[in-house]
This record gives sequence, C-alpha cells and structure tokens, in this order.
Amino acid sequence: MRTVWNDAVAARKHAHASGLPYPTTAVLDKVLITEAKRTKERSWLAEVSTVPLQQVLRDCHMAYQNFFDSLSGKRRGPRIGLPGFKRRTGTQAARFTRRGFALRPNGRLYVAKVGELKVAWSRKLPADPSSVTVIRTPTGKYYASFVVTVDDDAEVLEPLSDLEAETGIDMGLKAFAVLRGGKVIDNPRFFKRLERKLKKVQRAFSRKVKGSANWAKARVKVARVHEQVRHKRSDWIDKQVATIVAENQGIYVENLNVRGLARGRAAKSWHDAAAGMFLTRLESKAARAGRTFAMVDRNFPSTQLCSACGTLTGPKGLAGLEVRRWTCPCGARHDRDANAEINIRREGRRLVAEGPPDT
Ligand SMILES: [Zn+2]
Repeated sequence: MRTVWNDAVAARKHAHASGLPYPTTAVLDKVLITEAKRTKERSWLAEVSTVPLQQVLRDCHMAYQNFFDSLSGKRRGPRIGLPGFKRRTGTQAARFTRRGFALRPNGRLYVAKVGELKVAWSRKLPADPSSVTVIRTPTGKYYASFVVTVDDDAEVLEPLSDLEAETGIDMGLKAFAVLRGGKVIDNPRFFKRLERKLKKVQRAFSRKVKGSANWAKARVKVARVHEQVRHKRSDWIDKQVATIVAENQGIYVENLNVRGLARGRAAKSWHDAAAGMFLTRLESKAARAGRTFAMVDRNFPSTQLCSACGTLTGPKGLAGLEVRRWTCPCGARHDRDANAEINIRREGRRLVAEGPPDT
C-alpha cells in the first residue's frame, strides 16, 4: 500500500517539477498498478488484491484535492499540507470495498488475497458494512474498521417526558465543560498520568542511538503510549456524550474555535483533540437520538453577557481569562462558567425557535 502511495506522490511531484499536468487517478492506475505488475521490481503487486491498491490511489487523489481546496480557500479550517511520502514505520492501512472482503458466518473476516482472519469483535455490527479498512499500527497491532450505514431511525431514544430537560454546554480549559446548574465535567485524571508516562518514554527514546535496536524498541514504546492516549480519550468522550444525550432533550453548545482555546503544549494537544472530537460526536449522537441540538456562534459573547440583566458587563479578553467570579452592576453575582451556560442555553433555544434561515 505504502509503495503505491509513494509511487503516486513521486509521479505527481515529477509531473509538477516538469510542468506537466496533474496525473489523474485513472492514469496512475494504468501506470502504477496494471503496467507496474509486469516490471521486475513491482511484480509482487500482482499477488495483492487490486481493490485496496486502487483505493490507495483514490485516497491519494483525495489528499491532493484537500490540499488544493485548502490553498484556494474552498476548504475552510487550518491549512492542509502537501501529501508526502509514507515511511515504513508509520501506521499502514488498506481499505477494501464490497468486492474485496466478506464476513463469514463463523465470525471470521475474509480479505481478498489475504485469506480468513480471526477477529476479536469490539461490538456487534448494526448492519452490513460497505467497506473495511485493515490498519497496522506502529506497534504491530492490526485493527479492522468497518463502515456501516445505519438507518437513521435506528438509534432514536424515547423523548424525555421532561421537555425542560435541556442543557447548555460551556467548554473550558479549567473544567472540560460546564453543564446546567453548574454541573462540571472535569478533565479526566488519566490524562495527566499518561502525559507523564509519555514524557518519560520520549526522553528515553531521545537518548538512544538513532537506528540501533534499542532505539527501535523505544520508538515502539512511544507509539504504544500514544495509542493508549487515543483509546482512553475516545472511550472517555463516548461516555460523556452518552450521558448528556440520555439526560437532555435539548443540547446547546458553543461552536468553539477549538484550536485557539488551550495554552501550553501538553494541555493544548489533549484539549484540542478532545474538544473537537467531543463536539463532532455529540452532534451526531444527538441527531441520531432525536434530540434538539444547536451550535451557538463562536462570536456570541456567552461569558461577557450578564444572564440576569442582559448587559455586557462580564469578563472579556485575555485580561478576563482568570476571572472566575464577578458581580454585575445590576447586583447579580455570577460564576463565570455557570453564567455562560445559561446564555448558551438561551441562545440555543432562540436559534431553534427561529429555525433555519430562509433561502
Ligand atoms: Zn446584570
């Protein structure tokens, strides 16, 4: 898979350097797969199913497309880099569409030209998968990840009898999030512990002689801790999302500029990844469960607004970041996050009542 990807990147780099047009996926399919199979150094491609090989070309094209869209401003968000060569040691993945795999009644996974694989299922598939990606992580573990299209009605929860069961969500740094009534979701404790562990293995790795056997071992250790962080974070987010969706009929959250939120490297990497993933999963789970969900604009002054009198008297800007409690000239005393939650909840309700903009 890596070879085909790297050949595709090399072909496109060469075409660009020589002032030739961008080679399409169809052209690369012919040159890098069909014709390459007949050459001595690429003859092994014939022993592999062409399904994932062609998928690599499509994925590679998509990576370029995203890069071009990012350059032209068609794609919003952070700049996307030019696709690069893949190293042998990174995560390797192969995607198989319908023709390339089958699920056996005995629970095994058949993959074209690989054969039957024993699978430790993490859960039952809700429906027939349309594709599977087999991933080899840097630590040598294999994962199979299925794409399943679920009937939209499949996960609808009973509407809560208490339609007032609604919450705003104020995302923060000190606490991960604050819900209605000042209920706090703290940043998980395992994060600090894993962060220390990561520093330790990274330090050990940096002391090894590059290329030595101990260096390779230390690198696997670093990758393993990273993997632990990712799994724990993902599980933890799923739990928080499930609780919020189960307990609330209406969910309103600020559409955060997640990247700008955290300061300091360790806190930043954890928080940016966790907050982004949390919002994405919350929105999709709320939708599948038939909950009311709204994102409040990130420029909405949820912290500054006094929820009692509606004037902008609260803490603002960098100087206001440390202010946890404040008193409005109207006499109302506020906890920063609890006040923001009320404002987000009200604004979310208003947006829902207003409905989508006329087109
Ligand atoms: Zn006030």
